[in-house]
Amino acid sequence: MITEITAKSLFRKYKRIESWFLCRYGMNLYRGCGHNCAYCDGRAEGYYVDGEFGRDIAVKANAIELLRRELDPSRRRKPVAGGYVAIGGGVGDTYQPAEKTYCLASRVLKLLLQYRRPVHILTKSTLVQRDIDIISRINDVSRAMVSFSFSSVDDRISAVFEPGVPPPAERLAALAAFKKRGIACGMYLMPVIPFVTDLVDKMEASVKAAADAGLDFVVFGGMTLKDGRQRQHFMRVLERHFPDTAHQYDIIYRGDRYGQAHPEYYEAVNQAFVSLAAKYRMPMRIPSRLYADLLNDNDLVTVMLEHLDYLYKQRGYRSPFGLAAWSISQLKEPLSTMELGLGRIKGVGERCRKVVREILETRRCGELEEML
Ligand code: SF4
Repeated sequence: MITEITAKSLFRKYKRIESWFLCRYGMNLYRGCGHNCAYCDGRAEGYYVDGEFGRDIAVKANAIELLRRELDPSRRRKPVAGGYVAIGGGVGDTYQPAEKTYCLASRVLKLLLQYRRPVHILTKSTLVQRDIDIISRINDVSRAMVSFSFSSVDDRISAVFEPGVPPPAERLAALAAFKKRGIACGMYLMPVIPFVTDLVDKMEASVKAAADAGLDFVVFGGMTLKDGRQRQHFMRVLERHFPDTAHQYDIIYRGDRYGQAHPEYYEAVNQAFVSLAAKYRMPMRIPSRLYADLLNDNDLVTVMLEHLDYLYKQRGYRSPFGLAAWSISQLKEPLSTMELGLGRIKGVGERCRKVVREILETRRCGELEEML
C-alpha cells in the first residue's frame, strides 16, 4: 500500500564528509522499498519503517517543495557545503517501482541542476536510465556519478534475494549506457551474502564484470544482520533456497546489536576482495580525480586520509591516518589558514603532516594514488 506523507525536511546533513559516497548531504524520497531485498536492513526495528516492509511504502509527497526551500540561498543560514548530494541508500531505493508513478527523482534532479549541485546516485534499479538526459546535463555543469549496488552478478541468486530488482545483467547494461555518456560509474559490491555470494568465484565474477564495463571503482562491504525482523525474514529465504548454509550464520552472527558479523569473517572476505581488486586493477575507493575539485581543504584532506587508512587496513597494516582524518574533520577553521600548527592537531604526526601538506599544495596525494 502506498501512503503519501508530509515530511518536515528532506536534506539529511552529515556531521562530516562521508567518504564512501563523497557527500555532505543525502536524501530519501521514500520510506520502505518495493524492491524487497531479503537482506535489507531497512526491515530492522531500529529504522521504524511502518507497515509490512516491501509492500507498504511512504512517499514524501512534498519533497520538491521542501528541497526548493532547502536549496534557496536566501533561506539558508549557511551555504550548502561542497561535495556530491547523495540520492539513494537508506531505507528505500529512490528508483523503486513507486517512482514510476511519482517521478520525484526526476524533479529533484532538475532542481539540483538549477542550483548546480554535483550528484551521486546509488540505486539497484535500471529505472534511473529514464533520467539519463538530465543526469548528463548535471554532469556537464557540475558533475554526476551513478553507482549501482550488487550482491553478486549472478542473475539466479539475485532473483532469490532481490525479488523486486532488475537482474544484474540489466544493471550492468544500464551502467554501460551511463559510461557511454561520459558519466563516472561505480559498483557497490555490498552486501555480499555469506556462504552464497562471498565465494571467491562469485566475487571474482563481480569484480571482473565491473572491470569489463570500464567502471571507475568498486566499493566492497559485508552484510549486517540484526536480530529481529531482519534476521527472521532473511533466514526464512535462506533456509528455503540455500538450506545447507543456514547453520553457519549462527557461527558468524552472534547477536551484535549493530548486526555485525564476527570480525574474523569480515577480515577473510575483505582479504579475498583486496586480491581481486588488485588482479583487475579496480580502485577500491572513489578516485580523487572525481572529487578533488569539489571539496574544501578540510574535507579533501579528511577523505584522502580516510581512504589511505582504509587501504592500509585492508592490506593488514596499522595506520595513523584514521585518527588524523577524524581530528581534521572536527576542525572549525580552514586548515590552510589556521594559525595552529598542523602538529598540534590530535593524531597528526610527522608522517601525516607530510601527506596533509602535499594535499593542501597540490590537491593530490601520491601515496593514495599509488595504493588505489
Ligand atoms: S533496494 Fe536497497 S533499500 Fe530497497 S530493499 Fe533492496 S537493499 Fe533495501
